Amino acid sequence: MIREDCIFCQIAARKIPATETYRDEDVVAIADASPQAPLHLLVLPVRHVSKISDFSGDADAARAGALFRAAARLGAQGAPSGFRLVVNEGEDGGQTVGHLHVHVLGGRAMRWPPG
Ligand code: 5GP
Ligand code: ZN
Repeated sequence: MIREDCIFCQIAARKIPATETYRDEDVVAIADASPQAPLHLLVLPVRHVSKISDFSGDADAARAGALFRAAARLGAQGAPSGFRLVVNEGEDGGQTVGHLHVHVLGGRAMRWPPG
């Protein structure tokens, strides 16, 4: 389902432009518009899901798997010396776009703990 009021639905439907680095029937990867590392991709489900905690059941487990499989592959390809996958949820989690996405960050040493 494509939501007219959701920027990532619009990007997934190619109604708003983005730099796509990967696409299959389930997921799309785009370059983050405000990169926080030399490699900063966002991997999102084509079908709208607001947040990771909305996933439940076996079909959603497969969707989550597809999302993380794509993110891990893109991280390993783009940052062979290591990368970080991040999912933010809610206000305290730092989520600013209400369409689930996995950040793929790499190309520099990551710090811990994150901010
Ligand atoms: P969040 O804070 O929800 O975890 O991450 C949202 C991310 O989406 C941010 O890193 C932000 O830079 C990125 N972003 C927001 N709007 C757009 C957009 O229109 N295009 C792209 N490519 N990235 C966006
Ligand atoms: Zn959406």
